[in-house]
Amino acid sequence: MPFFQRKPENSHTVSCNIPRTEHCAMALSLDMAYQTERIIIGEMKEIARYFEGCVNPEPVILVDEVRPMGTMISELFETRPLDSIDAATGFRPDTVHHRPDLLEKAMRVTAELYASSNLVWRFVALRLWQEYQAVKDLPETSEINDRLDQIICPVRISHEQQIKSWHMVYTYSDLYRFLGGEYFDFPAWVMYQAGRPMTVYHVTDFSILPLYVHYLNTVYTKQAFFQYCKRCGRLYVAQTAKVKGFCSEGCRKAQQRDNRKRYDDSVKGDAAESNYRAAYMYWYNRMKKLRRDSDVDAGRMAELETAFKAFRDEATERKRDVQRKKADVGAFMAWLDEQRGRFDELAEGLPL
Ligand SMILES: [Zn+2]
Repeated sequence: MPFFQRKPENSHTVSCNIPRTEHCAMALSLDMAYQTERIIIGEMKEIARYFEGCVNPEPVILVDEVRPMGTMISELFETRPLDSIDAATGFRPDTVHHRPDLLEKAMRVTAELYASSNLVWRFVALRLWQEYQAVKDLPETSEINDRLDQIICPVRISHEQQIKSWHMVYTYSDLYRFLGGEYFDFPAWVMYQAGRPMTVYHVTDFSILPLYVHYLNTVYTKQAFFQYCKRCGRLYVAQTAKVKGFCSEGCRKAQQRDNRKRYDDSVKGDAAESNYRAAYMYWYNRMKKLRRDSDVDAGRMAELETAFKAFRDEATERKRDVQRKKADVGAFMAWLDEQRGRFDELAEGLPL
């Protein structure tokens, strides 16, 4: 009969640097005018004090970040399916007591999620950690296990494909139908931050899905769309779904710079080509005339043929270097001129 000895809690080899919370929450506010999102994470009662403007003692806030709009949505597209299953099952009460290896794995994954820059993951990690502390000594039930699965859901499942298809065909009345099911299973609160005007936050202490719905609804009802930046690929909010654009002024300018450079390069490439052709024709036409002339000394003719071939070989090589940006077009043109002079020297006195 297997005998499992329950290890004391401090025997875990993985150290979890995740703050222990009693009622952690994530608050989201969207600013369509400035195209930003603000996310605040902390204990619910601390967030409330923060919004009231308390300074003494200062509320403890774990995260307060303002980011370009769309950042949270792109974080929701990032997933770690296998790790998230490990995390959810590792914190089940039976696992906690009988499979220290799986518990350790869950703690490691959760610590990694909290250490990441992905704020959705950080909130999920806090929630998991809080849930683990609350249920670890209870008898395992399917309800506890379902809650763990629901908490980890945003790390397990990506909604990127749906978002991509939604924003192309979206009409306002369709959002509910498109999302359906679990998106509407959980509530979110509304909280207000002191100020004129007050800032409205949507707040969750459990599932991120209602904040997700609120986010999509806000963007779509303002006739805006999620787009991927033409340059850096980042998700951003645009006024149109049809024309591809840039996420920022920085990306737009960088692309302009690149286009200009590409144009300059192609002009330089063309210049190399046309100058080569002109120099080649200079040699070719004169060689053709001399070959037809039986009075030209055979020895000198052979010398010219060799020089012509050497010119062609070297010119092609040099032209390729210019087109591959390994050589300067100006130097190439000067060299072509020199070669014309060289032909004139070799053909001096011949009937041209
Ligand atoms: Zn960009």
